[in-house]
Amino acid sequence: MTAHILDGKAFAAKLRAQVATHVARLKTDHGIVPGLAVVLLGDDPASQVYVRNKGKMTVEVGMQNFEHRLPDTTSEADLLALVAQLNADPAVHGILVQLPLPAHLNSDLVINAIDPVKDVDGFHISNVGLLGTGQKAMVPCTPLGCLMLLRDYHGSLAGKHAVVIGRSNIVGKPMAQLLLGDSCTVTMAHSRTVDLATMVRQADIVVAAVGRAQMVPGDWIKPGATVIDVGINRIATDDGGTRLVGDVDFDSCAAVAGAITPVPGGVGPMTIACLLANTVTACSRANGLAEPVGLTV
Ligand code: NDP
Repeated sequence: MTAHILDGKAFAAKLRAQVATHVARLKTDHGIVPGLAVVLLGDDPASQVYVRNKGKMTVEVGMQNFEHRLPDTTSEADLLALVAQLNADPAVHGILVQLPLPAHLNSDLVINAIDPVKDVDGFHISNVGLLGTGQKAMVPCTPLGCLMLLRDYHGSLAGKHAVVIGRSNIVGKPMAQLLLGDSCTVTMAHSRTVDLATMVRQADIVVAAVGRAQMVPGDWIKPGATVIDVGINRIATDDGGTRLVGDVDFDSCAAVAGAITPVPGGVGPMTIACLLANTVTACSRANGLAEPVGLTV
């Protein structure tokens, strides 16, 4: 079997086009321009690239982009003051504080200081609670993108056995909640799971969010299963360069799976597209307008 490739790059481009249409409608019908504020501390190169890409795409879909670049020595009080200022700013509909924060800052405190309505990352404890209880929430972008790809390919996910490898607050846990919400039977695996291979072999859907290059081999995959690879890992190549790979061994998994996301070009592009979608959703909710269809779940 050669797996169907779940083309996140193409899907994300379509989603961004949908976002742009909604942004244009908000402008013409209501005179509102959705705004996204991104706060970045320090000069981590990967975060710099990520924030630059976010800013570029925010502008491309017609939204306002507010960037706040602060030194990594910024005090908690100063960061909280900026968050309070953004919470109060009516031009800002979404706030994202780029993680990880420098070690002297308490991430939970900072994230929970964001107005939950503007919490487009979906990490505020209120949004975590809303998602966990099946209520309308801001849904974390990466798992939201994974769910969109899965729904697009499968239609209904009801009754499928999903194994989520990884239990982080930003990917694994919300992913499991979303799959449960779509009536999957969900198994969550992590570093202490015993006999992960046997568990994964039972899965109709495998979501790998671990951060270990190519750790899931093809002989763990049930023939025909759908594999969603969230991992982004940079490895050395024979010619002295580097390349990006996921948490699954693409070639051996693609030979067995029914469908699989590539790395790059799978889940990655969906994350930023979902961030833009969440900002439009947040803007609509903040203004008491009907929620745009197709931008959230
Ligand atoms: P975390 O490091 O926060 O979590 C990793 C999880 O993997 C933990 O729950 C850990 O278990 C589990 N784990 C570690 N080793 C094993 C193992 N040998 N077997 C089973 N489980 C294991 O990572 P994130 O969730 O933040 O990210 C995961 C990956 O996804 C990374 O590669 C990251 O770069 C990528 N990512 C990609 C995004 C995208 O847009 N495509 C967005 C966010 C992340 P335990 O809890 O027991 O320690």
